[in-house]
Amino acid sequence: MTPSTIDLRSDTVTRPSPAMRRAMAEADVGDAVLDRDPTTRRLEERVAELLGMDDALFFPSGTQANQTGVALLAPPGTELLLEANAHLVHYELAGVAANWGVQIRPIATPDGLLTAEQVNVALRPPSPHLPRAGALAVENTHNAAGGKVMAPDVMDGIVGAARAARLPVHLDGARLWNAAAALAVPPARLARGVATVMVSLSKGLGCPVGSCLAFSARENERARAWEIRKRLGGGMRQSGILAAAGLYALEHNMNRLSEDHENARLLAQRLSDCPALRPSAPESNIVMIDLVGGGQTADGVIPKLAQAGVRLVPFGTHRLRAVTHLDVSRDDVVRAAEVIRSALR
Ligand SMILES: *Cc1c(COP(=O)(O)O)cnc(C)c1O
Repeated sequence: MTPSTIDLRSDTVTRPSPAMRRAMAEADVGDAVLDRDPTTRRLEERVAELLGMDDALFFPSGTQANQTGVALLAPPGTELLLEANAHLVHYELAGVAANWGVQIRPIATPDGLLTAEQVNVALRPPSPHLPRAGALAVENTHNAAGGKVMAPDVMDGIVGAARAARLPVHLDGARLWNAAAALAVPPARLARGVATVMVSLSKGLGCPVGSCLAFSARENERARAWEIRKRLGGGMRQSGILAAAGLYALEHNMNRLSEDHENARLLAQRLSDCPALRPSAPESNIVMIDLVGGGQTADGVIPKLAQAGVRLVPFGTHRLRAVTHLDVSRDDVVRAAEVIRSALR
């Protein structure tokens, strides 16, 4: 990889900036497992406030926070309803089954965006022969659907349908910050009525490590989540070093997410008249690029592109994914589009 390589594989590739590293170095810390780490606690309170939730807990990863959210809400032997291409279905190594004895009930949608109607259709009638639903999970933005953004009224409909069925809702908001930026609404608007919400700090916000799980019911939920996290090996000691990066990012890197969205639109636009490609119409920071004509495969073109200085990931046999982020500029995106066009001509 040359220094000038443009890495569009994921928004997780961002590296902490010198200013973020300074904030980390100067963090006031304690032992978060033994009693308390003041910086971690400040981050948890700030995240809960931004999400309009009662409290939050800091986690080493989004996967562990998602798994904990499911463990809090869905009892063993029940089903977790969610969109068929959700992260919880495809990228958590069957965690809800292996960890919690919970069965995935995938709901197929044409575009990745769940609706209240689809939830209602998927709900089973009460019967001693059918599994009970334990919880519903929603992903916003939806990664596998190409960063699709779920609008507040659609979310309200889903929360309403879940409430009518007495189902608690977990929001996988790894990129909820991006959804809020795309819609120009506060993040809390997108978490209204949910029981738990996971947000990532190590994606578009540029932190090296960290996610939070926020809850709507204070004392008890936090204590239960704390226990589950500890059982999973997620208790961290002087975690204020990492939480300081989170606090820094919420203050400095949140308002610029719309630049990533502009860059994603620019990339799609610059690829739109290339006959070998069909880019998606990005709603946030993800562009799906389909290889058309059937001649080329994602696995075939990715090494060629990497050699030419642009890194992407495969997302199906004929599909590539590009993600814009803090460490790629508008100029980088323009250059990436040129490289992709000439490599695939
Ligand atoms: C990245 C991601 C996660 C998991 O986060 P990690 O920190 O990588 O474990 C969960 N859900 C979605 C939608 C994601 O994009």
